[in-house]
Amino acid sequence: MPQFLAVARWPSTDADTVRMVISECPECGAAGVPLLFGLPGPEAMAAAAEGQVALGGCVLPERPADWQCSQWHRWSEPDQRAWEERLLAVLSAHGYREADDRLP
Ligand SMILES: [Zn+2]
Repeated sequence: MPQFLAVARWPSTDADTVRMVISECPECGAAGVPLLFGLPGPEAMAAAAEGQVALGGCVLPERPADWQCSQWHRWSEPDQRAWEERLLAVLSAHGYREADDRLP
């Protein structure tokens, strides 16, 4: 686990406790939220309205970033799984259920 990843656990009795993996901004140290590109689904829109994800727009940059902090810094990290877990946790909290498509 890289040092810049802070891992907390949701209170749960389930053995499969959902891990809350948060990436910290390398520039200002603020907690990052997953950065999404493309057309967001309704859950992603709701999460974005609460600042729990960031929307990067429909145009995918050449080297897209994975995270964004409150100061609009953007960065990537090698562990894509952390991003996916964090994003899924946020979207699930807004009613998203994993179906045929992996992510909205
Ligand atoms: Zn920052």
